Amino acid sequence: MQADLIIHARWLATMAEPSQPITEHQAVVIKDGTIVAVEDSHNCQWQALETLQLDQQILLPGFINAHGHAAMSLFRGMADDQPLMTWLQEHIWPAEARWVDHEFVRDGSRLAMAEMLLSGTTTFADMYFYPAACAEAAIEAGMGAVIFTPILDFPTNFAQNADEYIRKAIACRDDFRTHELLTFGLGPHAPYTVSDEPLREITTLADQLDMPVQIHLHETAFEVEQSLEQRGCRPSQRLADLGFLTERVSCVHMTQIDASDIQLLQHSGASVVHCPESNLKLASGFCPVQQLLDHRINVGIGTDGAASNNDLNLQGEMKTAAMLAKAVANDAAALPAWQALHSATLGSAKALGIEQQTGSIEVGKRADLQAIALDQLPQQPLFDPISQLVYTDASRHVRHVWVAGRSKVRDGQLTAFDGDTLLQLAKQWQQRIGAQ
Ligand SMILES: [Zn+2]
Repeated sequence: MQADLIIHARWLATMAEPSQPITEHQAVVIKDGTIVAVEDSHNCQWQALETLQLDQQILLPGFINAHGHAAMSLFRGMADDQPLMTWLQEHIWPAEARWVDHEFVRDGSRLAMAEMLLSGTTTFADMYFYPAACAEAAIEAGMGAVIFTPILDFPTNFAQNADEYIRKAIACRDDFRTHELLTFGLGPHAPYTVSDEPLREITTLADQLDMPVQIHLHETAFEVEQSLEQRGCRPSQRLADLGFLTERVSCVHMTQIDASDIQLLQHSGASVVHCPESNLKLASGFCPVQQLLDHRINVGIGTDGAASNNDLNLQGEMKTAAMLAKAVANDAAALPAWQALHSATLGSAKALGIEQQTGSIEVGKRADLQAIALDQLPQQPLFDPISQLVYTDASRHVRHVWVAGRSKVRDGQLTAFDGDTLLQLAKQWQQRIGAQ
């Protein structure tokens, strides 16, 4: 039996079986970018062009960053320590109007992807203007991406009105639909920036074209108060009344949740994408993750953009999520380590509608994998590998990353991009933006 690659790992976390998160001395066999076998290393009958022996490493699914704005990595550190509306209205929106075009998005997305790959992320969700530029960068990197074209009522450099954003979203999907690692979705920005008619149209189109949908929802208390004042209902209720909330939809943030919201989420099958560090940095509020999980609502994890985080390291995000969940629930048992890891992998995949392709190590799925060294000092002693992955700074020890079986990080070195070229590009943008 001939394969392309066999990875023998000391520890394996497939995330397919929550009751048995870790097995030892396992071989993962890859052919044509797909996992074709997972079996005991000692009884592995497969031959392969390449065999890797990872004696001190844990093999696990690549992280899936379920929400972000990749190109905003070029605005990293440009405007910190501001509340959401001041940050958006006085800093981010004016900078976007001045700078964002196809070239900006392509370069910013490249920088973001390099950072994500180096910290073990193999697929990311994106919601940003000029989505074709992000798609081109993802193809260049060979990285998985779920690209949500943003949709707003108001004009930006990218489009003039909701109709034009929607038209461009469909055109982008049509142009890139043959690329296996890419999925295209519709990204209405938020209930307060998109009116009823486009929200209805998005629901119909998503159904017809089988597209995932992502929206920022209940990010702040102000958003909910304003909706109650202006429309007499919470944003979640308005979306439900429009028929918008379905299992295709991932609701990003959800820091303001009451019993009615839980019921709507449960009833609709919509997912929540938790972005704890962005919520903390913008003082937006706290998503009660454990409460959602207790009601069997799927939760994925995202970093949000680098301008409000300011890194794209999903391992760090997972740790913050686990810590914050305990504080919010006033219960140290909330969001245990394996559950945080599940949210950052299979939970995120489900939120994006790609759980059949990726998110766990199972036969038939894409070989999207990462291997992390557990023999370093900060990970000793090693009682529980999952605990070390979630609660120690293990992302510094990502040794290998594969997307569809192709190596993107090898021995800790990025192979998907040339790092020096990216540094040059980032410096050029810094000079251009900083010179204003
Ligand atoms: Zn966002």
